[in-house]
Amino acid sequence: KLSKLPFRKTLDEFDFTVQPSIDERRVKELMTLSFLKNHENPIFLGPPGIGKTHLAVSIGLQAISHGYKTYFISAHDLVSQLRKADLDQKLEKKLRSFVKPSLLIIDEMGYMKLDNHSAHYLFQVIARRYERGSIILTSNKSFGEWGDIIGDPVIATAMLDRLLHHSRIYNLNGESYRMKEKKLQNEKQ
Ligand code: ADP
Ligand code: MG
Repeated sequence: KLSKLPFRKTLDEFDFTVQPSIDERRVKELMTLSFLKNHENPIFLGPPGIGKTHLAVSIGLQAISHGYKTYFISAHDLVSQLRKADLDQKLEKKLRSFVKPSLLIIDEMGYMKLDNHSAHYLFQVIARRYERGSIILTSNKSFGEWGDIIGDPVIATAMLDRLLHHSRIYNLNGESYRMKEKKLQNEKQ
């Protein structure tokens, strides 16, 4: 019942010593899955390569191991699947597939600009899950920059309003872990 996770990595594999910007205890608390019972939304923000997807995946694995239906998708794929379904007159069914899982992980919000149509699809998912099911979201953009991702400021505000009402925000920063690994490899050669 694995749900399209891009890779399998656990929290044990996450090195908190290289990521001092984030409070280890606050992240570990997510593993109790109390956020799921309260329909809260953990949100991981920060630049590329610093472990946002890793953390989202590790929580997803924990949720799955406790029997929670979990679905992982990038913001881009979510929107394009909904658009396609809409063209095929199957929007309602597709929307339901994103509302039904106990946990929906929306990865990489902000890499793509969303036109009004796309923003509206995403809004539908967020609004329908509001106070019913958790969303884990990762983004390279701060909330202040959402106005730039989403052309329509009214939709942007309405989306953030629902998403943030019951949320737990984790701000990560620092150097890309991918770059760090690459440097270490080069030094060894
Ligand atoms: P992001 O989603 O923030 O762009 P990822 O979560 O995909 O970054 O991390 C990039 C790669 O680096 C992944 O292979 C991830 O497992 C690894 N990684 C990132 N941060 C850490 C860390 N603190 N400890 C161990 N591995 C990490
Ligand atoms: Mg990522």
